[in-house]
Formats: sequence, C-alpha cells, structure tokens
Amino acid sequence: MSRVKLRRKIRFLSLRARELRMIARGLLSTRHPIDVHLIPIRRCNLSCAYCNEYDNFSKPVPIEELRKRVDRLADLGASIITISGGEPLLHPELEELIRAIRSRGIIAGLITNGYLLTPDRIYRLNRAGLDHLQISIDNVMPDDVSKKSLKVLDKKLQILAEHAEFAVNINSVLGSPVRNPEDAITVARRAVALGFSTTVGVIHDHSGQLMPLSPRQQEIFDQVAAMDKRSYSRFYEIFQRNIARGRENRWRCRAGSRYLYVCEDGLVHYCSQQRGYPAIPLEDYTRAHLDHEYVTEKSCAPRCTVSCVQVIGMFDNWRDPQTRKAFDSSSAPLIVLASQPAGKNF
Ligand code: SF4
Ligand code: SF4
Repeated sequence: MSRVKLRRKIRFLSLRARELRMIARGLLSTRHPIDVHLIPIRRCNLSCAYCNEYDNFSKPVPIEELRKRVDRLADLGASIITISGGEPLLHPELEELIRAIRSRGIIAGLITNGYLLTPDRIYRLNRAGLDHLQISIDNVMPDDVSKKSLKVLDKKLQILAEHAEFAVNINSVLGSPVRNPEDAITVARRAVALGFSTTVGVIHDHSGQLMPLSPRQQEIFDQVAAMDKRSYSRFYEIFQRNIARGRENRWRCRAGSRYLYVCEDGLVHYCSQQRGYPAIPLEDYTRAHLDHEYVTEKSCAPRCTVSCVQVIGMFDNWRDPQTRKAFDSSSAPLIVLASQPAGKNF
C-alpha cells in the first residue's frame, strides 16, 4: 500500500470515530448546529446554467473575518463546517480557514467544482487537515449548461486518487437539461473505479423545490444509487428517491437551528435556496435563535431538494413537532440582543 493510501486509511478511521461522536452528540442534544455551510467567496470560475449561487466579481472574505465566524460557530457548538461557494478554491487563504475549523475540533468539508485542483493544492489541503471533499459532475462532455464534465475533470480525479488523504465523494446530478442523462452512470462508475464514494442528486428549481425526473432519469437514478453503499448516501437516498419520483417528503426542516447557511456577508440564512430568511448576522445569532428556528415549520419542506438539510433533519424528525410557521408575517424572526452569549457547554 502506498504511503498516501495508508495515511488516507488512518485518517478515514479517525474521521469515522469523530463522525460517530458527532452523531451521538446530535442525538443527545438538540441545541447546537450539526452542519453549517460557510461561504468564503461568492465568485465562481464557471457559470453553470442552472446555478443561482455564484457571481463573477465578489472578492474573498478576509481570513480574519472568517476566523471570527468559525469561532462564533464553534461557540454555538457546530459539529461540521462545510466550505462552499461560489468556488472556494478561489479563496487565497482557504487552507488557513480549514486550519481554523480543525483547531476548534470541528469536522471540515469542502464542496468544489475541482477545476483548480493541482497536486500541490491537494498537498496543502492534506496539510491543513481537510476531512472530506465533494465534486459534482454533471455530464461526460462539456455543453452549454455545464462545464463540470468528466472529460475535463478526469485528470483532477486521478490526481485526487493519487494524492488526497481526505475522503472524496463524487456527486452526479440528474434532472438538469444536460444532453445525455446516462452520463450520470458513466460518472458514478468512474468514481467507484477510482475508489471514491458516490451520491446522486436531483436538480431543483430556482427556489430549491422539486422537479420530477422523467421515467428514464428515474431508472438511471436507481442504477447510480445502487453503485455505492459505503457513504451516507443510504440516508440521503430515502429523500432523493421520493424526489426523483415527484413525491413529496414528510420531514421537519430544522434549518436555522441544526443546519445553518452563513453567506459571504456573515448573515445566517435557512439554506442556499432560502437566502433572506432569517438573514441575521452570525455575531448576533444565539442559542435562543437556534431554539426558535428548531420549532419553526418551513412550508417549502415537502417539495424541498436540499439534501444536506434533509440528512441533518433525520436527527430530529422523530421528535419535537414544530409549532410556529416560517415565512408568515404574523411570526417574524426572533430578535435577540447581540450581547447574549452563545454558550460553550455543548
Ligand atoms: S461550479 Fe458550482 S458554484 Fe460555480 S456556477 Fe457551477 S454549480 Fe454554481
Ligand atoms: S425546506 Fe428547509 S432546506 Fe428546504 S428549501 Fe426550505 S428552508 Fe431550505
């Protein structure tokens, strides 16, 4: 076994142990965020036709500011911080951000389009302590909709297989108007051949809501979903399978509580598709906000396709019914004074 593979194995076992602790803690207490998506830069080097999460001009958030945000999230008890964008590899101090996350005992993840990966960058991500990385690949050949293509990214996947000591997941996306939906099978096969885990996601409309797949796309979904049973995709599939068939899911969205989306301006939103709610500065976000949003029902939940929030929802779907409604003018977001401490006893 090569030195990189041995290191990857050791780090994988250590990550699994930390994930088990994260799960136990998430089940024992409902009063901390389990996963936070943190945006260090909104700019992207691509412009996928279906995406509403990027621009082509934003500057990187200064690292001092990002460190403060990580500290605040750690004080709120966050278990995982997933760095997203835009394209986070465009941030010149991404590795410092990962170090800041790991130094607070938090699991560090990264979602990237992979274009900017080089052996040296992967080495720096290894050194910084990155725990897991995800790349979504939309098609085999680039087209007008998406350039996140296997043809372009295959070399990047090969250098990841050769150098990465962190876990890698390849997500295939179905439902975008790509030329050939069978591409998802080719992408997933390649990911499995290189030793990566795979998931399959279903594209959403511009507010994160369900867009049913065609019968052929549904068949492809089932094939890809059956390819890899090692990752968290087993849980993820329960929701995605319903979405693929145009069926609503019954679940309790705990966004704003167990899941947070912190944008480049440092505001807390429910998720990437509900930016603007509640849009409270992270520095003012307290345990009272977490408790408040925990019991707030989101009317977009039945047709939601935001899988990361659905997976986190599984910690609490079985308990604590939600008693107030979001997006309702008679129940405005909670205002809490900034001086209230976040607390560190999670
Ligand atoms: S690479 Fe990702 S962030 Fe960039 S435009 Fe495409 S989907 Fe959006
Ligand atoms: S249900 Fe939750 S995760 Fe889904 S779109 Fe609504 S707020 Fe976002």
